[in-house]
Amino acid sequence: MWSRSNHHTPWIYRRFLIRRVPRMPWERVFDIHSLGSDVLTKLYHEANSLISGIRIEILPANRVGRREERHPAATVGLPGTPTIQFSVSLDRINRIEAIAHELAHLLLMYRYGLGVIGRKVSRSGCKEDVFHYFMSMPGDWVFLLGQIANTTHHLILIDHLRNEYGIESHLHCRLLQHNMRSIANDNSKDKESLYAKGVIAFEYERLIGQFDRIIRPSTQTEPFWKAYHAAQEWFGRYSYQSIPTSFTYEANILSFLENLGYARENFIFYPEKVCDFR
Ligand SMILES: [Zn+2]
Repeated sequence: MWSRSNHHTPWIYRRFLIRRVPRMPWERVFDIHSLGSDVLTKLYHEANSLISGIRIEILPANRVGRREERHPAATVGLPGTPTIQFSVSLDRINRIEAIAHELAHLLLMYRYGLGVIGRKVSRSGCKEDVFHYFMSMPGDWVFLLGQIANTTHHLILIDHLRNEYGIESHLHCRLLQHNMRSIANDNSKDKESLYAKGVIAFEYERLIGQFDRIIRPSTQTEPFWKAYHAAQEWFGRYSYQSIPTSFTYEANILSFLENLGYARENFIFYPEKVCDFR
C-alpha cells in the first residue's frame, strides 16, 4: 500500500525524499559506457561539465521510487552532487531513456537556470533551511511545486533529447499515461492536489493529446480547470524551440502561482541566482 502523496511525488522531489533512506549494501555504481550509447555518454559529459561528479547507480527493482514500473528512475542527492538511480528491471533502451531524461532535467537546471520551486523560509533563508522546510511540507505542496517544475521541463526536454541526441521518450510518455489514469481515480480534495492534476492534464495534452480520452472533463473541479488554464497561459509557449530565460521562467511560475491565489513572495527557486532580479 502506498499513500496518494507518495504516489504522486514527482521526480524533482523524490530526490530529496529518497536521500533520507539509508544506503543498502547492494546499491552499486553503474558504468554508463556499458550501455554502448555514444549520445548518452556525450549527454552525461555535458551535464557533468555543469555539475561535476554525477553518479549513476543501478538498484534492485523495488528500490527506485515506490513502484519501479511507475518510477523507474530518479535523481537523488541535491543540493549537492546528484546521483541518478534506475531500476535493474529496465532493459537497455529504457535505461538509456531513463538516464537521459534525468540528465536532461539537470541540464535544464544548471545550463538554462530552470530551477525547482520551494516555499520561502522566513527565518534565516539559508539553503539548508529551505530544503529542510521542503522536507517538512505536506505532500500536497510537494506534489504541486514538483509537478510545475517537472511539466515545464518536460515541454522542453522531450524534443531536446530527440533533436540533440536522437533519444526518444517512450518511457516518459507511458508514465504520463499512467499518471493520467491514476488521477482519474484519485479522490483527493485538497486544492494543491487538484491544481497539480490540472498541470498534469496540461502536460498530457501538450505531449500526447486530448486528455478527455482518459478523464471526463465534466467531472473535473474548478481548481483543476483554474490550474489547467493558468498553465496554458503561462507555460503554453514553452518548447525546445522556445526555451524561456531563467528570469522569464521564474516570473511565469510566480504569475502562475499568483493566479492560483498564492503570494509571489512566498516562493524561492533552486539553484539560486548570483543576482536575484525578481
Ligand atoms: Zn521528468
